[in-house]
Amino acid sequence: MADLTRRDVLGAAVVTAGAAAVDAAQANAAPAAGQERPALPAFRFPLEAQKARVEDGGTAREASVAQFPVSKAIAGVSMRLQPGGLRELHWHANAAEWAYVIRGRCRVTVYDPEGRSETADFGPGDVWYFPRGHGHSIQGLGPDECHFILVFDNGSFSEFATFSITDWLAHTPVATLAKDLGVPVAALKGLPRREAYIVKGAVPPALPASPAPGSQHAPRLTHRYALEAQEPRAFGGGTVRIVSAHEFPISTTMTGALMTLEAKALRELHWHPNADEWQYYIAGRARMTVFASGGRAQTVDFGPGDVGYVPQGYGHYIENIGDAACRMLLVFNSGEYQEIGLSGWLASNPPRLVAANLGLPESVVAKFPRRNQFIAR
Ligand code: MN
Ligand code: MN
Repeated sequence: MADLTRRDVLGAAVVTAGAAAVDAAQANAAPAAGQERPALPAFRFPLEAQKARVEDGGTAREASVAQFPVSKAIAGVSMRLQPGGLRELHWHANAAEWAYVIRGRCRVTVYDPEGRSETADFGPGDVWYFPRGHGHSIQGLGPDECHFILVFDNGSFSEFATFSITDWLAHTPVATLAKDLGVPVAALKGLPRREAYIVKGAVPPALPASPAPGSQHAPRLTHRYALEAQEPRAFGGGTVRIVSAHEFPISTTMTGALMTLEAKALRELHWHPNADEWQYYIAGRARMTVFASGGRAQTVDFGPGDVGYVPQGYGHYIENIGDAACRMLLVFNSGEYQEIGLSGWLASNPPRLVAANLGLPESVVAKFPRRNQFIAR
């Protein structure tokens, strides 16, 4: 009974998410005799269409496994901070935080278990990474709204259940706090009675150029990486910038990529042996088919503000189906980037074997690319 209910829910999700292109009949095909073949969950979640948590100073929309059942290993949040808006001091007990700034500027301060801290300003194209449990805050610097995407290496993570400082202090006897902070109880009368989450602050002054704040006790590894400043790998149909622990050593559990596909270009068929893939579509329109084995696949169209998800090892491609360039953020839950592409795989097998396997003449196989395409036109 419980299983039937779950399957009904998953089936409904497929239809909702895939109006454009899901082959619902195939996704829901009855299992062959003696075989369990559950329907596929939806691989698309319209994040920016969700109702936001609205605070004085900013907003947040989240996609955890609760809203997006397939995203078991990675959760995400779209956050906007007004000038001065402060995502308050907090930490995450069960997830590291990876972020990419799409628009605007913000300042981040992070404090680590070695008692070292880093304060740094972020702008469009910059990435941050906070290891699990490190204390941090984020403040909008203006003059415009700052919009960034947060990604967590735990699908059960909820941005609305973080360990926020106001929540903690509000649930501690005030006499104890007064002892800890070395002030009279009366001096703490103004403390919030509940979690603030985002507070409205004033835009802080520019950071001093020298010495940079925290430079006396700066962490051994920086939390900031300028992804968009990286020289991209260029292909006939687009570009990609990848930041793994190799380029950004503190990011031991996550890898990010910024990819641009020109009109009609195709990020070729591939899979990732070691990681799930979480996607945020920034601009343009794209189509993806996720292949889940056992005759199961789902083809879905994506537009700006949509989130996509590909479980570890599942085959997929991304094709630009619009007239303009398509730009997307891809985040993996491993600090090491791995992929296996169709064209490189086939080129690495004897042509005769490939011809026999695919039922094609060897003359056709001979025309296949001789190495990994990555992005094809
Ligand atoms: Mn956080
Ligand atoms: Mn991929």
